[in-house]
Amino acid sequence: MQDLISYHDEYIMGTYARYPVALVEGKGSTIKDANGKKYIDFTSGIGVNSLGAANEPWISAVCGQLGRIQHISNYYYSDITAKLAEKLVGLAGMKKVFFANSGAEANEGAIKLSRKYSFDKYGKGRGTILTLKDSFHGRTLATLAATGQDSFHNYFFPFPEGFRSVKCNDIGEFKKETENNSDICAIMIEPIQGESGINMVDIDYIAQVCEICEKKDILLIFDEVQTGISRTGKVFAHEYFGISPDITTVAKGLGGGLPIGAFLCSEKLEKTLDAGKHGSTFGGNPAICAGALEVLNTVSQPAFLEEVVKKGGYIIEKIKNFNSPAIAGIRQKGLMIGLQLRLKEGETPKDYAKKCLKSGLLVLTAGTDVMRFLPPLNISYDEIGEGLDILKDVLMEE
Ligand code: PLP
Repeated sequence: MQDLISYHDEYIMGTYARYPVALVEGKGSTIKDANGKKYIDFTSGIGVNSLGAANEPWISAVCGQLGRIQHISNYYYSDITAKLAEKLVGLAGMKKVFFANSGAEANEGAIKLSRKYSFDKYGKGRGTILTLKDSFHGRTLATLAATGQDSFHNYFFPFPEGFRSVKCNDIGEFKKETENNSDICAIMIEPIQGESGINMVDIDYIAQVCEICEKKDILLIFDEVQTGISRTGKVFAHEYFGISPDITTVAKGLGGGLPIGAFLCSEKLEKTLDAGKHGSTFGGNPAICAGALEVLNTVSQPAFLEEVVKKGGYIIEKIKNFNSPAIAGIRQKGLMIGLQLRLKEGETPKDYAKKCLKSGLLVLTAGTDVMRFLPPLNISYDEIGEGLDILKDVLMEE
C-alpha cells in the first residue's frame, strides 16, 4: 500500500488530504482496499455511486453503449442522450436540459443562462447572482465566487464579479438586498447545504424568496448537485418545498459513477441559450448518458424512493439509540445524513473519520464539526447494520 501511495504522490498534485488507503474494487456498498481489507461504504464517492459499486444493470447499460459508439460530437444527434434528457426533464418538471460534466460546470451554465436571460430582457447591469452564506457551488473561479464561504475567497484573485451572498433563512436580509439593488438577475440556493454540514434551508424562507423572485423577475436556481437524483428520498429536493425553480442543476449521483452534470430550465428560459452560446466537448456523452438513464430509471421508482426514506429513518433511529455523548445533533433527509459531533479541544471530524476507516467504515466529513453519510441509495440493510456496528464502537470510545 505504501508503495502505491508514494507512486501516486510522486506524480499527482497534493490538492487532497487523502486517507492512506487505496480503494481498488467493490460490490454494492462493500469496498475493498489494495490489501483486501473490506469497508462498508457510507460515502458512495461523495454522493456519486448511487447504485453502489459494480452494479450489473448499470455496467450493461454503459458497456452496451460503449460497444456501439463511445462518443460523438455535439454537432450530431444522439438517441441515448435524447432519452436521458426526456426522462430528466420529465422528472424535474422542466422544459429543457443542457448536459455538462460536473457540478461546477452545471452551475457555471446556470449562471450564464441567468445572465443571458436578464441581458436579453433588461440590458446590461443586471447580472448579479445572489447566493446564501455557507453554500458551496464548486471550484471553478465563478462557482468559487458564488460559494458563500469567505474561506474560499483567497489566493485566486481576481475572482469574477457579480456575486453577493446573503444570510441563509434570513428573509429580512434577502428583502433588503432585493429592494436596495436593481442589479440582481438570480438567486442560487443549495436546498440542503451539504458541504457546510447538512444545513437545511427553511421551507418558509424558500416560499418567501420565491414570491419576491416572481414579483421582481429574479430567477430561482436550485443547486441540486448533492441533493438531487433521489438522495433525499425525492428525485429532486425542490419537491419538499412545493416550488418549481426556474433552473435546477444536478451532477454527482446522476451518472452513477461517471462524470456528468446538467442544468435544466423552465419554459421561459428554453430559448435563451441559442446556437453558439454554450457548449461542452464531452457534455451528453452517450456512454455516460446510458449509465445515467439506468440510474434514473431505477432511483425514480416510487418503491425505491420509499426505501431511501425508510433507510434514512432507520439509520438515524439506530444512531439516536446509541445515546453517544459524542453526538450533539443529527440532521437528515433521506440518505443525506449529518451527525454534528461534540468535539473535544483540538479534535476534528476527520479524527472520527480516521477511526471509522481503521475499523472498516468509509464516512465523509462536512463543515467544522459534522460527520456526513451519503451511502449508495441501494445500500442493503445488512450493510447498514455492519456500518452502524462500527460507527457505534467509534462513537462510544472514550
Ligand atoms: N454544488 C454542490 C451543492 C456540491 O455539493 C458540489 C460538490 O460537492 C458542487 C456544486 C461541485 O460539484 P463538482 O465537484 O462536480 O464540480
